[in-house]
Amino acid sequence: MKRWGLPLFGLLAACASVPTAPPVPQRPPNIVLFVVDDLGWQDISVPLWSERTAFNDRYRTPNLERLAREGMSFTQAYASAPVCTPTRTAILTGQAPARSHITYWTLRKDDDTSAKFPGLLPPKWDVNGLQPEDATLPELLQEAGYRTVHVGKAHFGAVGTPGADPRNLGFDVNVAGHGAGGPGSFLGLENFSAAARKGDRVWDVPGLERWHGKDVFLEEALAAEAVEQLDAAVAAGTPFFLHFAPYSVHAPITANPRYAANYAHLDPREAAYATMIETCDAALGTLLARLDSHGIADETLVIFTSDNGGLSAHGRGGEAHTHNAPLRSGKGSCYEGGIRVPLVVRGPGVVRGTRNDWQVISADLFPTLLAAAGVGLPRDGIERDGLDLTGLLRGGWLEAERILVWHQPHFWGVNGPGIWPFSALRVRDWKLIYRHADREFEFYSLAEDPGESFDLAATATPIVLELAKVLGERLRAMGAQMSIDATTGLPVPWPDKVERPTSFGFYQF
Ligand code: CA
Repeated sequence: MKRWGLPLFGLLAACASVPTAPPVPQRPPNIVLFVVDDLGWQDISVPLWSERTAFNDRYRTPNLERLAREGMSFTQAYASAPVCTPTRTAILTGQAPARSHITYWTLRKDDDTSAKFPGLLPPKWDVNGLQPEDATLPELLQEAGYRTVHVGKAHFGAVGTPGADPRNLGFDVNVAGHGAGGPGSFLGLENFSAAARKGDRVWDVPGLERWHGKDVFLEEALAAEAVEQLDAAVAAGTPFFLHFAPYSVHAPITANPRYAANYAHLDPREAAYATMIETCDAALGTLLARLDSHGIADETLVIFTSDNGGLSAHGRGGEAHTHNAPLRSGKGSCYEGGIRVPLVVRGPGVVRGTRNDWQVISADLFPTLLAAAGVGLPRDGIERDGLDLTGLLRGGWLEAERILVWHQPHFWGVNGPGIWPFSALRVRDWKLIYRHADREFEFYSLAEDPGESFDLAATATPIVLELAKVLGERLRAMGAQMSIDATTGLPVPWPDKVERPTSFGFYQF
């Protein structure tokens, strides 16, 4: 693609790896998809930046380090959205939120969770989330003979709708998943219920009654439940798809006393957060050990990732908006801290011990995992946005330049950098952000400025206009719903259809 008249660069940068991948087995691989909630790009001890960071030293994820040694780590993996539901549903459907209209997080039936933003209203988005009529990854794998198991946080569809229960979305088994996106409590001693903090009982984690009253952290119980499911699938002799989704490290940030001594030097809130990360990593270790003991590690694809950037606007110790440094801001934001996430993949056909700098996104997991299972994309006439990453995982490269798009016509409700209704695009190292409220652009060059500190929009007008056109075309092609102007009741203009005054009078681009 040469539409910007500039030479391509970096196209082969990702392929300088030694091709030592485990062979692809004759039968379809098992799949363990491990999706941590709100885990930031720097919330792990595996370095994903050009240099090791203080956060890499702070957090302890030895099992993820093992996974990285035995698999491929992506340094520029993105969540499909800066908040939970739209990313989770993008993984399950391969559709970007702009296309599915599931652009924000869901909770109760017909309830819009969007916070109020001055001058804007959200569009009529799909407030109930994923529903049984949607073709999903587990459903397609189920039809192909997989045993499909969900353990942990679901948050695919709203409470009071069929989509709240993962069993209505293609999972044979659901352990502890429902319509709410956070737990009442992380403690078995509190029955995983919000009752102890006098919170809304909608957050109570369902289906873990056998652990009530016990000294167990939520992810410890989930790991034990997952092991049982894994054993049962192995005993049945069928390939399995285990979607393991910790409720950690989402609020309410809660210390796991078993790991507290490792973080005694930190601010108490940050220490508690670090213990949640280590608890998730221990759950990963439990699952990896079980794959080893069954002798099926080489025939199981393991994917570790997160659904959005790390929480940083509130509820954390230390200075707000700094917890994903060197990236800017965090969960809810259009900046990199809100959308860049860890992604590590290990298994058949995946080159061992490599780092991959290609830009990939959550929705890619849909076609990638279907391809791994030998299942074709559904022929239902529905367009999908994810890209099959099989070639990358085998040490190859993408043939075409990628254009990634984010679209969140909602306000997350907490003030902070980039936390506003927006559309955004990334291509090469360029990032364009379109702010719905004032119809203005921001433009960054991430190679030189990963922290998005130097807005080049005013000085790079020709490329900003060209990228705005690409963003507008993409959004229209996806049928995206723009924010609504509260004054006129009309949608905010597409990024390439903004009328603005200049020294030459009004023009439109
Ligand atoms: Ca989340």
